[in-house]
Amino acid sequence: VARPVARWAYVNARLVDPGAGRLDGGLLIEGDRIVATGPDVDARSVGEGTTTVDLGGRTVLPGLIDCHAHLTWSADATPVATIIAETGTPALDRRAEENARRALERGVTTVRDLGGPNEIFGLRDRIARGDVVGPTIVASGAVITSPGGHCHFVGREVSTPEEIAEAVGMQIAAGADVIKIMATGGFHTAGTDPRQMQFSADDLRVAAEIAHAADVPITAHATTDRAIRAAAEAGFDSIQHGAGIRRSTSMLLARLGTALVPTLGTRPAFLRHADDPRIPPEMHTKTGRLREDRFATTGAAFSEGVTILVGTDSGTTFVEHGSVPDEMAHLERAGLDPVSILRAATSAAAHELRADGRIGTLAPGAFADLLIVDGDPLADLAALAAIHAVVRAGVLVAGPAVRLPSSAS
Ligand SMILES: [Zn+2]
Repeated sequence: VARPVARWAYVNARLVDPGAGRLDGGLLIEGDRIVATGPDVDARSVGEGTTTVDLGGRTVLPGLIDCHAHLTWSADATPVATIIAETGTPALDRRAEENARRALERGVTTVRDLGGPNEIFGLRDRIARGDVVGPTIVASGAVITSPGGHCHFVGREVSTPEEIAEAVGMQIAAGADVIKIMATGGFHTAGTDPRQMQFSADDLRVAAEIAHAADVPITAHATTDRAIRAAAEAGFDSIQHGAGIRRSTSMLLARLGTALVPTLGTRPAFLRHADDPRIPPEMHTKTGRLREDRFATTGAAFSEGVTILVGTDSGTTFVEHGSVPDEMAHLERAGLDPVSILRAATSAAAHELRADGRIGTLAPGAFADLLIVDGDPLADLAALAAIHAVVRAGVLVAGPAVRLPSSAS
């Protein structure tokens, strides 16, 4: 198992810290942390005995954060059938581990997993211990849904406020970092309707109260304006998807500081493979009913001051794990500027995960979670795809092998 070496430095780099700014210089790393950043960090200043790696002007960014993924899901034509078949088998763990590794190699050093079997907590903990190489995982585990409701096959199915309170409590006891509740139906679950609420405003309030009493954040899958509004008014920390959002509700989210994770990439991914005969027919029916331009509503919400975050919904139909740069391109198409998009995948996402200063930044004290690319993503976000190296918690996990002082392995 790779362990961080004691002390080393990247020098001669372009440093892009989206929450702070841009400067040239280097990064000094000790163990799993960044200890110094900026123009004063060079081969001379770090002192003899510290290995330095010259990046030749390449760009260093904080590792990317995906605020909405499903690592246990297969990202093929039939992810629901696959997860139902694999739940409770070793194949599930294997798949999640491979998907996590894939995301990490694409520069995603933190993944928030928003729905799957509670086995995800085991992978989260194995990665945290260093037994498995992968991104930091923040996970909801099983979702809270209605009987037969959206994602019931990976959910706790409840109807009354008492059952909701109990289910939220059980997820927290099982180790959930965040509670996910399906406020509306969804595309992936047969017999559910994305245009219908599954829970009342009072139900959502109960869920938020129980989660927040335990200091655990809560987020809602919400695809109608009414559901988004109800979740925001109930004190939810963020909204997933947010289809149907109207201007007055965007203003409410902006005022309350409720973040929106629009997951814009799901529909383009589906449409790219729409002629795949394996796709369940109901998915076509539901997609055919869509009239809303979600790129326009997301851009409008951003203009109203809503915090927009990057989430891929990876694992769902044809949405690849680690496709954070794709989602960032979609946000650009929606009208966000490059700095806001980079923040949406770093500093702003870290805030949503209650990890300010620890991830999503190059500031001293943060984990040495780094994405190093050849070009300049501030000039062109497509530069994020030309990866030179990925470092997680001080360990080089992708990219050219650098000669570092030997570490226990
Ligand atoms: Zn999802």
